[in-house]
Amino acid sequence: STHHEVLIVGGGSAGISVAARLRRSGVADVAVIEPSDRHFYQPLWTLVGGGRADAELSVRPEESVMPKGVTWIRQRACGVAPDVRRVMLADGRQMSYDFLVMAPGLRLDPEAVPGLAEALGHDGVSTNYRFDLAPRTWQFIRETRGGTAVFTMPPGPIKCGGAPQKIAYLAADWWRRQGVLDKMRLILVLPTAAMFTQPQWGEVLKGVAAGYGIEGRHDTQLVEVDGPARRVVLLDTKSGTKEDIGFEVLHATPPQGAPHWVRAGPLADPDSAFGYVQVDRYTLQSPRWPTVFALGDVANLPTSKTGAAIRKQAPVLVANLLAARRGDPLPARYDGYTSCPLVTSRNRMLLAEFDYELRPRPSFPLIDTMRPRSDMWLLKRYGLPTLYWHGMLRGRI
Ligand code: FAD
Repeated sequence: STHHEVLIVGGGSAGISVAARLRRSGVADVAVIEPSDRHFYQPLWTLVGGGRADAELSVRPEESVMPKGVTWIRQRACGVAPDVRRVMLADGRQMSYDFLVMAPGLRLDPEAVPGLAEALGHDGVSTNYRFDLAPRTWQFIRETRGGTAVFTMPPGPIKCGGAPQKIAYLAADWWRRQGVLDKMRLILVLPTAAMFTQPQWGEVLKGVAAGYGIEGRHDTQLVEVDGPARRVVLLDTKSGTKEDIGFEVLHATPPQGAPHWVRAGPLADPDSAFGYVQVDRYTLQSPRWPTVFALGDVANLPTSKTGAAIRKQAPVLVANLLAARRGDPLPARYDGYTSCPLVTSRNRMLLAEFDYELRPRPSFPLIDTMRPRSDMWLLKRYGLPTLYWHGMLRGRI
């Protein structure tokens, strides 16, 4: 059939969580548009790049996570016409819906930095933001025993804002254990004046970076990469000065934004320079089309884009969609909760949890997660993946 009661675009963390919850709530006709036959647990990629987990643990067949009773449309969406409630597919078909949930995630845009796309995967240049390259990051870190290592974060909202620096700490700890850290120069390039969105955890991270002797470059961006020559150009956006630096290893976080077709389409938020989807930040409903909802990385929400945020968004979205379907007022509100497990060494972690107001929102109020802890590391490595595959994707937590 080309009509579905609820049509979900994207079968990633957000799309599958919502699909599972809708089925559990008794919605009979739910379809997910998802072209990929693999589903990824991306938070593990930081540990893969740091040599602390195997990449294979982060992937499962899409089929195995698709909730029972949900129709899987194995195609790429390429357009939305919310006035007539239709989604266009890459094969030319059109699907219609009563309700649409947008969850296609975001797009990596390494092309935005000259030289980066070509360099990725060789010449010591890698990124944990791709499944195929995270193992490369570890290879380059392991092979390096001196010289300069550069870690970069691009401007704009990206997924897991902590990931660009977590890999710096994992690498630094490794080089320290190898006895070579003292001979090396480590540079962490951040687009912002602050170390981290949430100031209290930012302070802690400042200390962590200083403890490894990492040079922080604030208000700075990666603007050019020359892979074969192993050189980068950094731009200080405050003074406008450029600096050319030679490197042995470069971990680059590519610039990110909404997929092109979303950005160019009617759902893009005119206030988002990156084309993310416009939704009410509390109800997750489109302010213009009440039959459209969005969550996850593609949604223009003023909080950090993480899987942990989706865990709190999915139940709110589903409660509100079900109410809209009955014609009732929307009952649920998302408060911006997000969380970032900040790996600070090969066996320690901080857990940053906060909301739209940047208020700390601890899940474990009795323990101090502002201090690097080994129990939190075990949570990240073993607890959270299990919670993800068996709880979140099944709509249980
Ligand atoms: P995704 O999970 O990316 O899924 C999007 C889906 O949409 C994909 O399956 C894709 O194939 C599909 N799709 C794309 N285009 C189309 C289309 N045109 N039509 C149909 N389907 C389409 N989060 C945490 O909570 N904690 C962490 O520690 C953490 N660390 C991270 C570390 C790294 C290196 C990375 C990369 C991410 C990390 N995250 C972390 C972030 C987390 O993985 C994302 O926020 C989360 O996966 C977003 O879910 P999503 O469903 O919005 O997008």
